[in-house]
Amino acid sequence: MSSYYNINSFLKENDVKLIAVSKTKPIDLIQDFYDKGHRLFGENRVNELVEKHNALPKDIEWHMIGHLQKNKVKYIAPFVDLIHSVDNVKLATTIDKEAKKNERIVNILLQVKIAEEETKTGFGFDILLSKLPELQALTSIKIIGLMGMGTFTNDDEITEKEFVKMHGYFNILKQTVFRDNPEFKELSMGMSGDYKIAVKNGSTMVRIGSLLFGKR
Ligand SMILES: *Cc1c(COP(=O)(O)O)cnc(C)c1O
Repeated sequence: MSSYYNINSFLKENDVKLIAVSKTKPIDLIQDFYDKGHRLFGENRVNELVEKHNALPKDIEWHMIGHLQKNKVKYIAPFVDLIHSVDNVKLATTIDKEAKKNERIVNILLQVKIAEEETKTGFGFDILLSKLPELQALTSIKIIGLMGMGTFTNDDEITEKEFVKMHGYFNILKQTVFRDNPEFKELSMGMSGDYKIAVKNGSTMVRIGSLLFGKR
């Protein structure tokens, strides 16, 4: 827990939200963090997210941070607070449809590819620009920002370069397409190994798992 307080106060000073990534961790441990006052939790699997949402207090804000399949959107649409990992138009369209069924507006982030690794998903920035009109026409989702994942590396210079690039993309959109839209304000960037570099480079939301809950 001591790392929780240290990380939390560092992030508070910088006005950055902490998404506690509780994937694979048991209900009891999440409840401990809840009892300390924490309310923002992130999961990367739909089944686990639904199970934990059912088992834990209802004032928790649940964030979906992992790759999301279209056919599973319906299970989280009734309650999810933010989906970080929207990386294609078909997925966005499905979320919009399921949100409508639930008479909700679902907040989403658009995941942008910044890492060189082939395994990292996300929109290329140019493609994203071309798809934005289509995405903005969906009335039951609200695009509140971007999400990015850096290359898995110990080389801080590579990470920093990618986060600078991501912050640049975010600012371009904020100053152009989303100029009249104050709700576009979140940049989800930074994990256990690189959250300080992310905060330095404009992150508003970090997703931290192992540093809080221990190794998985
Ligand atoms: C697991 C995960 C995290 C947290 O990773 P840690 O290194 O444990 O902090 C952040 N973002 C996503 C998308 C994840 O899947």
